[in-house]
Amino acid sequence: MVIQENVALAPLTTFQIGGPARFFVEATSTADVQEAVAFARSRELELFVLGGGSNLLVADSGWPGLVLKIAIPGIDERPGSHEGKILFDVGAGEVWDRFVSRAVVAQCAGVECLSGIPGSVGGTPVQNVGAYGQEVSETVESVEVFDLKDNQIRELCGEACRFAYRSSIFNTSERGRFIILRVTYALTPGGQPRIHYADLKRHFAGRETPPNLAETREAVRHIRALKGMLIVAGDPDCRSAGSFFKNPVLTEVQHDDLRRRAEARGFSVPTYPALEKNRKVSAAWLVENSGFARGYGFGHVGLSSKHALAIVNRGGATAAEVLAAKDQIQHRVQEIWGVRLEPEPVLVGM
Ligand SMILES: Cc1cc2nc3c(=O)[nH]c(=O)nc-3n(C[C@H](O)[C@H](O)[C@H](O)COP(=O)(O)OP(=O)(O)OC[C@H]3O[C@@H](n4cnc5c(N)ncnc54)[C@H](O)[C@@H]3O)c2cc1C
Repeated sequence: MVIQENVALAPLTTFQIGGPARFFVEATSTADVQEAVAFARSRELELFVLGGGSNLLVADSGWPGLVLKIAIPGIDERPGSHEGKILFDVGAGEVWDRFVSRAVVAQCAGVECLSGIPGSVGGTPVQNVGAYGQEVSETVESVEVFDLKDNQIRELCGEACRFAYRSSIFNTSERGRFIILRVTYALTPGGQPRIHYADLKRHFAGRETPPNLAETREAVRHIRALKGMLIVAGDPDCRSAGSFFKNPVLTEVQHDDLRRRAEARGFSVPTYPALEKNRKVSAAWLVENSGFARGYGFGHVGLSSKHALAIVNRGGATAAEVLAAKDQIQHRVQEIWGVRLEPEPVLVGM
């Protein structure tokens, strides 16, 4: 294990923003993780676990403790014990989209709609990543973790992760307790791709034969690229952390209030049923209808020219500038629509 000092974090994030890590370790094995944790404890350093850096805003002052980058590799396939599933045991440091590609090539369904999401495998259970009608909660069989509470390695089943919309125990009740080492996904060999989402249905409209997994993967990547939600070298619209705000889930009362406000302005709110009695509202719609069109500028910071929900670093932006833009958007949306937008990325060191 190599311990580095004063390592720039900005290049390790998709936002390309943030100061240095006082100490930095890249762990390629469970033993490295254990050693790094012991080092942090011996120096009383606060630990931050870094994956692919695609869902982070790092403070301009950086991280004063130890940043532990999880780089544990490996994708192994084995037969599952039920419903003819194939289990993929994947190291937390693997690039998520490399695993999706491997699953699609193996003709295994379950993650094809999650093609093109940046970041690591270890990052996917944290906020239960989802896109185009799929979430990892549907396929996570178990998560192998290092438990910082008692230094044990444990296997958490999918249910124990308590997945919900953009959340799990890893970013809520047990935040900071577990380091994810490996994730096991249960996929369906020969399964059909999920074409539930409107964008995908539109993409394949008029076809006589249903698309296969590989075509679905390519369609998702194509649609994502059009929205600046695929990391494409040289595209300034993807210097971001993806969607900066979660889609708010409203109660019936809150939704009625929003509908009334919209009607008063001659709008109707695009909405779809989410959790039981609640309603999920498009955060992008709220942002765009609060005076922040795609491409809106706040100096070094702006909104993506392809998607109003992505705050982008236009070059030389600071975390403070991103936070100021975030505050301005939150304030305006709350003022006009009575809805509080919650940021999706993790704010590190602030
Ligand atoms: C262009 C773009 C598009 C995106 N599109 C989507 C999308 O469609 N859907 C979606 O859900 N998200 C999306 N995201 C957000 C992001 O890609 C995902 O949340 C991703 O899973 C984050 O993984 P990561 O490895 O980059 O995590 P990081 O950003 O490095 O970390 C995020 C959080 O996870 C924790 N973490 C990471 N790895 C581990 C580990 N091994 N053990 C414990 N904790 C860990 C970190 O401590 C931090 O709290 C997008 C981001 C970008 C930049």
